[in-house]
Amino acid sequence: MPVQELAQLTWEEVRDLDREHTLVVLPVGAIEAHGPHLPLDTDVVIATAMARAGARKLAGRGRSVVILPALAFTAANFGAAFHGTLSISGITVTALIVDLARSLSDHGFQLLALANVHLDPEHLTALTEAVQLGRVDRLLPIIFPDLTRKPWGTRLGDEFRSGACHAGQFESSIVLAERPASVRDSIRGSLSPNPSSLSQAIKAGKRTFAEAGGPRAYFGDPAAATADEGSRLIEALGSILEEAVSAEI
Ligand SMILES: [Zn+2]
Repeated sequence: MPVQELAQLTWEEVRDLDREHTLVVLPVGAIEAHGPHLPLDTDVVIATAMARAGARKLAGRGRSVVILPALAFTAANFGAAFHGTLSISGITVTALIVDLARSLSDHGFQLLALANVHLDPEHLTALTEAVQLGRVDRLLPIIFPDLTRKPWGTRLGDEFRSGACHAGQFESSIVLAERPASVRDSIRGSLSPNPSSLSQAIKAGKRTFAEAGGPRAYFGDPAAATADEGSRLIEALGSILEEAVSAEI
């Protein structure tokens, strides 16, 4: 089955889909500072790549899959003090996803999978609450593989595991693979590694990138990024999405 972009179909084409057996994937990103070398929509680029890779794998198993336009706005409090970051409240994000899920349920779709690599705590809480509210309201199942939890994060490289994973090697590699013209490459090559762990900082109660030891809104080692690694990571993210969905259906 080919993967289709829902927004590019006509209503009659959607009418004719076997929706009871059609999975829906929503890429969820953010407009947020990602170091001096990556664009604000980095998480949208990565979530979209994850969605496409996961959808391709599911389609390869004979599943019918449609991808929604990416959701680009969410809670991004850690980056809020940096120019250009647009942070909205987690409650808004939860409500929007539940409303989308309700509409997809009304149309008879099978399941909604969220492709997400934005790890701001309020954002992750918002997605988790959307999953729970969808269940309470008996909507279609909402699947959300949380990369900060086992087993997923362990499959995304040492930097990701260390928690120094914002605009570093992990994310820079994926943007290099997916949209290389967006990377300010001479700046990227000049950045020294920042091993401060965001996940440890969050556990210690820090609330911003600056407090967490990232005054330029990057953690990890951007200079070590490569497009080849980015391609591998996109496949790994796609497999995570595929496995999370397959466990549910
Ligand atoms: Zn990011």
